[in-house]
Amino acid sequence: MQRKFLADAMLGKLAKWLRALGYDTYYQRYYGSGVLESLLSGGRLLLSRNRKTTGLHPGSVLICSEHISEQILEMRSAGLIHTTGEGWFTRCLICNVPLEKAEPPDSRQNVPEYVFHEKTDGISRCPSCGRYFWPGTHRERMIKQLREWGFHNP
Ligand SMILES: [Zn+2]
Repeated sequence: MQRKFLADAMLGKLAKWLRALGYDTYYQRYYGSGVLESLLSGGRLLLSRNRKTTGLHPGSVLICSEHISEQILEMRSAGLIHTTGEGWFTRCLICNVPLEKAEPPDSRQNVPEYVFHEKTDGISRCPSCGRYFWPGTHRERMIKQLREWGFHNP
């Protein structure tokens, strides 16, 4: 089964990229007391930039760098994420929930006209926030970045 992550408040960018790769990654900007503990009881692997936090939670992972490229490399070196993936862009980058395929006429009403005609099959929707996602320039830029980091999808 694929690993599930819990990113601390300082790892918002890393959380977004892990979601792009398809990894279930919980993240919020602020965790009140006891929140991390209750989330960890659900079997998530804690990623933190804070040595105190990782010290308190045995088995958690200390992320040393503050730069996203190096953070990704740290995750790879530790064997926590794989460079080949099938789950790219199957998860909402904002909510972390799996996307659903958007069918016409729903998709037609909610994406730009040219997208509907060119990418009908590739349009998906987040059941949580209602955002629509499709293969476009934003995604292409992200894929280019992932390739530069050494990731490839089938
Ligand atoms: Zn969403």
